[in-house]
Amino acid sequence: MKLILLGAPGAGKGTQAEVICDKLAIPAISTGNILREAMKNGTEMGRKAKSYIDSGALVPDDVIINIIKERLAADDCKNGFILDGVPRTVAQAEALEEMGVEIDKVVDIEVSDDTIVKRLSGRRVCSACGASYHTLYKPSALPDRCDRCNGQLIVRKDDEPATILERLRTYHELTEPLVDFYKERGKLVVVEGQEEVADTSRLLLEKLGV
Ligand code: ADP
Ligand code: ZN
Repeated sequence: MKLILLGAPGAGKGTQAEVICDKLAIPAISTGNILREAMKNGTEMGRKAKSYIDSGALVPDDVIINIIKERLAADDCKNGFILDGVPRTVAQAEALEEMGVEIDKVVDIEVSDDTIVKRLSGRRVCSACGASYHTLYKPSALPDRCDRCNGQLIVRKDDEPATILERLRTYHELTEPLVDFYKERGKLVVVEGQEEVADTSRLLLEKLGV
């Protein structure tokens, strides 16, 4: 199955991508994680992306399209994949079509802006492995330590309050049009984000029929 997860920043795309990934044994591909890894390693792409990411803007389409082309060509994508956080603009969605990628379904996880702000401000990520936590909804066992690798948990720079508002603005302006884009193509599945992560997962898997 070839899936896209749509939704505002903090809608829980990453968490749900992991659930689907476990269930269907297909890789979850997050451009956000790929970009953060590149920034951590100080590659040229990482250096280029950093100022955009830190200010809450989108990284230019050509950078993203290159990442995705390369990643989808890998062997583990043969039986399907979940795209988490990409496409994020109509140009990226069109590029996927031009590449001949046949998407089966696009899941839009809908969450209100108020909830987004609450969620993102509590988000913590592992500085070592990138695992995601939340002070209220998904706390780590030890304070500020990753359950998976014991790495230090930090607040992402782009989860600071002013940047959160900018990311939401960007989402409404550039990414939300993809909801109609995929509705017109008959691929859209809407899942209402629930208070509990597990409830959203259950609805999502139900709607995908898996
Ligand atoms: P979130 O979904 O919580 O915003 P991501 O980890 O998906 O977080 O993305 C973090 C940042 O990386 C975005 O704010 C953006 O700057 C950049 N980014 C990730 N994916 C894309 C994309 N497909 N197109 C443009 N920029 C992207
Ligand atoms: Zn970790």
